[in-house]
Amino acid sequence: MSKRPSPISATVDFDAAGVQHGFLKLPISDDESAWGAVMIPVTVVKNGEGPTALLTGGNHGDEYEGITSLMKLSSSLKAEDVSGRVIIVPIMNVPAAMAGKRTSAMDGGNLNRSFPGDPDGTVTEKIADYFTRVMVPMSDVVLDLHSGGRTLDIISFGASHVLDNADQQSQALAGAKAFGAPYAMTMFELDAAALFDTAVESQGKIFVATELGGGGTSTPESMAITERGVRNFLIHYGLLKGHVEMPAEPQVYLDMPDASCYVQSEHSGLLELTYALGDHVAKGDVIARVYDMTRSGTPPVEYRAERDGILMGRRFPALVNMGDTIAVIADVVDSLD
Ligand SMILES: [Zn+2]
Repeated sequence: MSKRPSPISATVDFDAAGVQHGFLKLPISDDESAWGAVMIPVTVVKNGEGPTALLTGGNHGDEYEGITSLMKLSSSLKAEDVSGRVIIVPIMNVPAAMAGKRTSAMDGGNLNRSFPGDPDGTVTEKIADYFTRVMVPMSDVVLDLHSGGRTLDIISFGASHVLDNADQQSQALAGAKAFGAPYAMTMFELDAAALFDTAVESQGKIFVATELGGGGTSTPESMAITERGVRNFLIHYGLLKGHVEMPAEPQVYLDMPDASCYVQSEHSGLLELTYALGDHVAKGDVIARVYDMTRSGTPPVEYRAERDGILMGRRFPALVNMGDTIAVIADVVDSLD
C-alpha cells in the first residue's frame, strides 16, 4: 500500500522567485496545544535557472555550528546572488533543538536514525518522511551539517560515501573536498539504512555531510570554517558566483577503515585525554586515563591507541561511562579516489 501524503505543509511556495521565510508545519495535538503544530523554519531563495541546493542543520538538535551558520545565511542570502534555488532548513529536528538535545524532546527520536520515515509515525518519523518524499525530490545537491554535539568534539571535515554509482560518488567527493574544511574524508557507515544520507543518495542525489567541532556550542574558528564551507559548497555546485576558498594549509585526507578507529570506555569515572584533536598518535600510546572518582590514591586505567593516525574525535564531557566513545583515530591517506 502506498503511503498517504505527508501531514506536513509548507507556508512557502517552493516555485516562487525571490526570498521567502516561512515554516514547515507539522500538526500535533497534545496537552500543551490541542490543535497545535511543530513549526520548522525554512527559507527559500530562488532566482533564474540553476540547480536546487538543500542546506540542512539541526538534524541533531545540539549541533550548533550548522544551526547557527544556516540561521545567519537565511537572513543574509539575496536572490540576485543565486542562480537556481537554495532551500535552507537550519533546524530539521525542532523539538530536539528547542530542548538543547540531540534527540527529540517530544518522542525521543533520533532523526538521523529515522529515515526514510513514516507519515503515520512519531513526530520525528513524520519529519523524516517529509524530507524523503518532498524536500529531497526537489533537490539536486544536499549539504547536511553535523558536528559533535554535547558529548563529542570532532575535527572539521567534509565527507562523502562509497556509492554503487561511480559518477554520483565522484561528484559528492568533489563537493566534500570543495567544502574546504581542514580535512576531507570518505566515510564508511556501520549502519547506513536509516540515515538521511542514504535517503538522499538512494534517490540519485548528491549528498555531502560534515563534522565541524562540537561540545554543544560553536567557536569563532568552527563558525568561520562552517560559513566558508557552506559558501564554497554553493559556489562549487554553481549556485553562487565566486571562487572556492580553500584553507591555507593543504587539506588532509582521512580514512576510517574499521572499528579499531573507535576507542570505547570499559570503565566509568573521570576522563583525561592526553592528546588534542588533530594530534598524531602512534599505536601503543596512552591516549586517555580514567580515574576512579570514589577514592584518592588509586592509579587510573590507561587506554592505548590500537593504531597509528590522528585524533579525529574525542568525548567532550570529563565524566565518562562504560561504553562511551573516548576517542576516534583516523588514518591519514594520500588520496580519496
Ligand atoms: Zn549529528
